[in-house]
Amino acid sequence: MSLQFVAIALTLAGTTIMMMALRPACLICKAQNTVQQKRAWKILAGLICLFIIAYIILTISSITTTQPSTLDLIVSGLLFIGSFFVIIILNLSLSTIQEIKRVAKQQRHDALHDPLTNLPNRALLYETLPRTIAHAKRKNSTLALLLMDLNQFKEINDTLGHHFGDQLLQTLAPRLQKAIREMDFVARLGGDEFAVVLADIDFEGAKSTALRIIECMKTPLSIDSYDLKVGISIGIAQFPLDGQDCDSLIQKADIAMYSAKKDPCHFSIYDPDQDIYSIEKLTITRKLYEAIHNKSLALYFQPIINLHSGRVCSFEALSRWHDEELGIIPPDEFIAVAEQTGLIKELTLWMLDTAISQFQQWQDFNPELQLSVNMTAQDIQDYYLVNNVSRILAKYGFNPEKLHIEITESNMMTNSPQTRETITELHKLGVSLSIDDFGTGFSSLAYLKQLPTQTIKIDKSFVTHLLDNSSDEVIVRSVIDIAHNMGQAVIAEGIEDRHCLEHLQRLNCDFGQGYYFSKPLPVTAVAAWMVARGEFMRQAAS
Ligand code: C2E
Ligand code: MG
Ligand code: MG
Repeated sequence: MSLQFVAIALTLAGTTIMMMALRPACLICKAQNTVQQKRAWKILAGLICLFIIAYIILTISSITTTQPSTLDLIVSGLLFIGSFFVIIILNLSLSTIQEIKRVAKQQRHDALHDPLTNLPNRALLYETLPRTIAHAKRKNSTLALLLMDLNQFKEINDTLGHHFGDQLLQTLAPRLQKAIREMDFVARLGGDEFAVVLADIDFEGAKSTALRIIECMKTPLSIDSYDLKVGISIGIAQFPLDGQDCDSLIQKADIAMYSAKKDPCHFSIYDPDQDIYSIEKLTITRKLYEAIHNKSLALYFQPIINLHSGRVCSFEALSRWHDEELGIIPPDEFIAVAEQTGLIKELTLWMLDTAISQFQQWQDFNPELQLSVNMTAQDIQDYYLVNNVSRILAKYGFNPEKLHIEITESNMMTNSPQTRETITELHKLGVSLSIDDFGTGFSSLAYLKQLPTQTIKIDKSFVTHLLDNSSDEVIVRSVIDIAHNMGQAVIAEGIEDRHCLEHLQRLNCDFGQGYYFSKPLPVTAVAAWMVARGEFMRQAAS
């Protein structure tokens, strides 16, 4: 009797375990990706079902048998062990498959997300955007792509360190997410560049989202003990208006973002009429970026002469760019590109650093020599400019009083609070300021009077033909008078011959610059030119 009881108990337990094994078998089957694998696991689940039926039959026969043998008991025992074996194997397989799936999911997440902010990355944008476009096409709706770039991120990184920059990006990511709808997609594309995809949105909706993002950046970010305000520039491209596919939308939003950098509101909607970014322009932009980063631009120096003493008093540093494929690109052209693309700040800092480090060697021979560098409106609107200038001056121990910053008249007239503050701070630093290309802008004398400038440079267009054109002569004469009355010195640029020089001397012009003295010289030619004029020797003798 007890033998029969044990046999029945074993087969019943085996039946239950086999039934329990059906669950992991079904889960594994569901987890399979291919039809063949699914079919194989379905067959296995079917076999388990057959086993369950066999177990039930055996249990019934064990109950009905009056004289159970030892063999019946051994068979029941083996079946019980078999069922146990099956459930262990299936559970192990299930947990292995689940672990593999978890690791694969994690790897996919890592590949598609930025580790710093945990936002989706560029790769995920390239997956999501085409899907959103396809969805918009099906539903006949519109969408917008916003590309964004922080305004002073490089300066923050350079000034406060990369660790600080990283924290800034981490603090900023949740803020960006809050400024958009839950259904919208935000990605970090790298560096300080972000993208937002706004599905099912019209022009007004996209615009108000951009304004909301700009607004949310106005509250300072608290990092370490700093309260930092960072601006953001946003470019907007719309589907289907600006592009029908992922690449063209990204390209158009990128173009809009570059013009947003120049826009006082810091956002811009792609406008084909203003699209100066032809393929050619984009090539120049890319190459200029490389040239600045590889430091392959060159600096030339043009002497400025004191017209009273006839001696060289300073040099103006002028950038030169010779690209192997594009040839020589004039500074007027590449400086404009650098301004449009936001590369100008890097170019200016490179130029300042290179010019000062080079200039020190010449000052060893002639300590009176002064250096003039050009800066643009964007430079003087840059909150970090003064810091950067004083950092570079300190790096080389360069006397700020020997540095002149030339800002063109039209740029000087951008009468923004930041411009005024930068100009005042530069002045406090001891740096001199000159108004370049004077006469080409529309200066308000009242405003000019308030500026702490020391020198006015009369534009070459009035100087070169001074003797042939009476109105040019009147302009030059008047500018010299007004400047002197305002306590400013005058530099005439574009002196190409002796007669022009002599006339300027008669008009009591203080300084002169032009091809008559010398064209801008490469670094290697400056010392020889100075020696030939006796400038170095004269200094050594004095
Ligand atoms: P600018 O600051 O007014 O520089 C004087 C320009 O006049 C230079 O042109 C110089 O080569 C040219 N020049 C000097 N003397 C004569 C002359 O007698 N006759 C004629 N026809 N031209 C003369 P360049 O080097 O082509 O530079 C053009 C402009 O590009 C500069 O005008 C300046 O505004 C800008 N630039 C050049 N390098 C830099 C730079 O590193 N940074 C910035 N922000 N601007 C730069
Ligand atoms: Mg200049
Ligand atoms: Mg000039």
